[in-house]
Amino acid sequence: MTLPGSKDTPLRVAIIGAGPAGFYTADHLLKQKNLSLEIDIFDRLPTPYGLVRAGVAPDHQKIKSVTKVYDKIAAHPNVRFFGGVELGKDISVADLMAHYHQIVYAVGAQSDRRMGIPGEDLPGSHPATEFVAWYNGHPDFTDYQFDLSQEQAVVIGIGNVAMDVARILCRTPEELQKTDIADYALEALKKSKVKEVYILGRRGPAQAKFTTPEIKEVAELADADVFILPEEAKLDELSQTQLAQEGGKAAQKVKIIQSYAGRKTEGKSRRLTIRFLVSPVELFGDERGGVRAMRLVKNELYATESGALRPRATDQFEDLEVGLVFRSVGYRGLPLPGVPFYDAWGVILNEKGRVLDPDTKEHRLGEYTAGWIKRGPSGVIGTNRADAVETVNLMLEDLSSGITLNPIRPEPEAAEALIRQRQPNFFSYEDWLELDKIERAKGKAQGRPRVKFTSVKEMLAALGR
Ligand code: NAP
Repeated sequence: MTLPGSKDTPLRVAIIGAGPAGFYTADHLLKQKNLSLEIDIFDRLPTPYGLVRAGVAPDHQKIKSVTKVYDKIAAHPNVRFFGGVELGKDISVADLMAHYHQIVYAVGAQSDRRMGIPGEDLPGSHPATEFVAWYNGHPDFTDYQFDLSQEQAVVIGIGNVAMDVARILCRTPEELQKTDIADYALEALKKSKVKEVYILGRRGPAQAKFTTPEIKEVAELADADVFILPEEAKLDELSQTQLAQEGGKAAQKVKIIQSYAGRKTEGKSRRLTIRFLVSPVELFGDERGGVRAMRLVKNELYATESGALRPRATDQFEDLEVGLVFRSVGYRGLPLPGVPFYDAWGVILNEKGRVLDPDTKEHRLGEYTAGWIKRGPSGVIGTNRADAVETVNLMLEDLSSGITLNPIRPEPEAAEALIRQRQPNFFSYEDWLELDKIERAKGKAQGRPRVKFTSVKEMLAALGR
């Protein structure tokens, strides 16, 4: 039998998820010389780009220009996009196995990590991921409510998502007006009463997860002062030793943090306070049940056997008044129906991208994974390129050994017919280009990059369906 990948029998690959990991997987496959391929990229949303559209902050337009690379891939004659088609709802793993030689799950991490503290779920305490999806116009989150009539907000965690959330809360309407933030979020944020935003790091400045551009950027907010307590900006001995060994970017970040410490405020109308070495231990509700305060414990650092510096609670506590809380302690992957999941890490059970059988720990024939659902929610967009390359190299290795699925309906028309039957309202890449054009034209009229469609109904109507 001839191996798939020839002109007569192209290798048929289904990629589930049209975010960075999905596109980089397609890209590396397309780069292979002498490999005849047909790639179908599926997404449960009608629109492509995953978190580049629904996660990257609206005031970070430059980062979004990475979609130009994805557009080239999507426009390739051997690539098709099926938007609005959900694995587990519209199609199953068995359907994919009947139509493709290889399947790649690249669905990202769609949920959030839990903190496990009392009061975490009080009204007014939200996963930051929900707020991010809401202000970015993700169709599943348009109805979410955030009480922006509160004056004090706390963001727990000190990664880039926490910085995004804090920045959006601190931006002026004029700053937000220039972005592609969802219209309803813009209106709500224009009326926001939030004056004081805290970001809480459980470890010290040397362990902050945000990157240098993000900490620099907060000092340039038009109408918000940045405040850091001088005693919290100081490094303990363990951190000093760690930093002396690491140097580079971590040292640069600490220098910036310390330059903000104790700085005189400029009397701007909002204040962003970055705290270090504190952990929330409990959230308290008011008589209506909504969050009203948070108890913090002061931490100290200790070195683990591996040398990592971890936080340890002391016996010092303080209470902070707060009416709005965003828990920004990391994304978490969700299981896909019919695909092995490693719950402890919130990822698909895999080895370097090969999906494993939970009982035998052997590779599940023809099934692969890439991106956050493979390795967990870490790294920047570009990190997914190397990750996808690793997966694709294993796919090619297996292909050359003749280890692929053997689909009973390998014709591209058969897959399309199935999708038309299951989800007649799917969106092709051409449909997306049409939506994109309308969004950009609406944006141009308002001096914005685009005005987003935020519901599937609106998107269908815009295409005259
Ligand atoms: P992250 O970088 O992993 O940060 C999570 C933060 O939550 C860390 O500060 C972590 O502290 C803290 N945390 C975890 N559990 C906690 C707990 N129980 N109590 C208190 N704090 C806790 O995750 P992220 O901010 O969600 O970002 C995800 C990925 O996307 C990152 O790689 C990020 O760089 C990337 N991203 C990039 C950009 C950009 O490039 N502009 C924007 C957004 C996101 P510890 O360090 O102590 O664990």
